[in-house]
Amino acid sequence: MIRTSARGALLAAILGGLGGPTAVAEEQHGLHAQCWTGPALRASRRELRPVYRRVALDLAGLRKLELAPASPTPANLRGSIRRVDLPPDKKLIALTFDLCETPHDVAGYDGGIVDYLRAHKVKATFFAGGKWIETHGERAAQLMTDPLFELGNHGWTHQDVRRVAGRRLQDEILLAQRAYERARARLAQRACLKPVPGALSRIPERLGLFRFPYGTCDAKALHAVAKAGLLAIQWDVVTGDPSRDRSARAIAATVLRHARPGSIVIAHANGRGWNTAAALPLIVPALREQGYEFVTVGELLAAGKPVIARTCYQWSPGDHRRFETARRPHMKRPRARDDATVFETTD
Ligand SMILES: [Zn+2]
Repeated sequence: MIRTSARGALLAAILGGLGGPTAVAEEQHGLHAQCWTGPALRASRRELRPVYRRVALDLAGLRKLELAPASPTPANLRGSIRRVDLPPDKKLIALTFDLCETPHDVAGYDGGIVDYLRAHKVKATFFAGGKWIETHGERAAQLMTDPLFELGNHGWTHQDVRRVAGRRLQDEILLAQRAYERARARLAQRACLKPVPGALSRIPERLGLFRFPYGTCDAKALHAVAKAGLLAIQWDVVTGDPSRDRSARAIAATVLRHARPGSIVIAHANGRGWNTAAALPLIVPALREQGYEFVTVGELLAAGKPVIARTCYQWSPGDHRRFETARRPHMKRPRARDDATVFETTD
């Protein structure tokens, strides 16, 4: 078993500077405030929902990009991380929001979620699809430069990694890494950041976390993610927000019922979450009242011992199932569920 301090050092290496300067003063004067006005940061209804259309992408340029060096994930951190066991005096919780985008659509940006998190100083982690980063350049840059937020990899075009192998599997993982690193390089060129000493050093050089699209994986995909120096992050509390019939109250009731110290909560910020933004005012103050502190996944991992499963969630109800069945009309559409939102580990 690895000691906490040694684990912290490993995590810091994977996450590229975990525990670096994220002081309160910096949160109030994040890099995003250097580059965007309040109105430019705020939600826009026009961006909220996905649009089904294909877009031209500079894949050739992306493939040429040399990735930041990374060491493979150590054996004791491989597998799918569901939650984190914390010391008894710590009451931390991580909200996560997926920014999924498929080859067929340009996904949305649920700015109401981000506005709420900023207004109430709630830290969170966004798992961004590489294609989402490419098609939402300004929004991705805003998230990357906001010290409240951490970004993770959610695949290039949201493939079920059990169905791809070889080059396609590598693309799913590494093109998203490249999309992030290209976005970071472009940020370095912005005039608004030039006057800020060490601006780029505040933005992690690479993504260190990976969330499997659809919550599915197999041994080869887990191996590929670990080989790329990424930690596979799943969840233990599901908002169920892809279901249109989940009200804000139902989402909040579920999260409040199942949250415990060390939990990782999954929701969506790509316009495929319904009532998520409206649920946050019912969730955040209530959890703070109970003594919870919101942290990023990286911070949660550094504070305790990750609970790691050997397998991923498969077709159990949860992330994207409704969306997936909507795209595949021959599949049986799942019944709406009020609960059943905390998965059992499958190993
Ligand atoms: Zn997703």
